[in-house]
Amino acid sequence: MSVVESQLHIEMGTKKPCRNCKWEIADPTNPNQGQCTVNRTKAGSVWKRWVRDVHNMTCTHYEEGELSFRDHV
Ligand code: SF4
Repeated sequence: MSVVESQLHIEMGTKKPCRNCKWEIADPTNPNQGQCTVNRTKAGSVWKRWVRDVHNMTCTHYEEGELSFRDHV
């Protein structure tokens, strides 16, 4: 796996969008954007990364999450 793929990156039409990933938290005002919480500092606190397009961004840390309270647009 390349270094780039392990990082959050644009992949148009990806089958593993951040939107469906359990690490992603949708932005309350704009659900097309959100924050990725997969990264943690050594101290254990969450280091959030901004996700500009939750439909077309992904990374190799993708894990299918529960969509429970999120609406399917
Ligand atoms: S772990 Fe990867 S796929 Fe999941 S939200 Fe973060 S950047 Fe997106």
